[in-house]
This record gives sequence, structure tokens and C-alpha cells, in this order.
Amino acid sequence: MLDRTTYANVKRLVKRSCANYSNSRCLHYDTQCDYESRFGHAISCDYFEKSVLPNDDVLEARYKKAHGINYQDDLEESKNIRKCLDCSEVFFRKSNRQTRCSECQRNANRKAKAERMRKYREKASNM
Ligand SMILES: [Zn+2]
Repeated sequence: MLDRTTYANVKRLVKRSCANYSNSRCLHYDTQCDYESRFGHAISCDYFEKSVLPNDDVLEARYKKAHGINYQDDLEESKNIRKCLDCSEVFFRKSNRQTRCSECQRNANRKAKAERMRKYREKASNM
């Protein structure tokens, strides 16, 4: 829930910067703008939070605090984005140990297996 000042600032930012705002209406959702509605102080608009709000650091911090929004999840997610060791492609890792994209991992596994087999055969022929 936004306090009066924060809410007023949010409305001002919406009017000034939201690309979907037009005469109190939202072009994106084709309804009245959430923040112009009767419950505007209690509503959160995804588009606004993602694309408009970050333009104002101070307001963003206040807004998130007021709404109890925790962006930790996003942070967690970005921590799990890795660059593949082999092809440098960006991938989303599923475990801490993963260093390659799934395709390169498959190739690496195949190589490791071939190497094991080669050593095994070498050893066998020396006996
Ligand atoms: Zn790769």
C-alpha cells in the first residue's frame, strides 16, 4: 500500500513517462490506468514496475518497500546465468557445478567417455 506522497509521485511518473498512459487509460491493457483507479495506491502494474519505475531510483525504492516487493528472486535468477566454457553461449545453469551449455556438456561427456575407453583398451592390450 502506497502512502499519499509516494502514490502522488507514482501518478506523476506514470503521466510523464509511461508509454502506455493516455488520458487516464492504459493502452497496453486497454482499461483505466491502474494507478488512476480507485485502488491505485494498492495496485501494482507489471509494465510500470518493469519499464517505468526504474527511471526513478528513489521512488522505486520507496514503492517496493511500500508494496513489500522483494526482487531477490530476480537476483537469484541472474546469478544462475553463466557463459559456456566451450562455446561462450549464455545459458541458464541448473546446478552450481555446471560450466557448459547442455550441448557442449553432452559433447564433453562423450569425449570423456571416449578417453576412458581408450585408456581402458590401452591397459587391456598391455596385459
Ligand atoms: Zn556451449
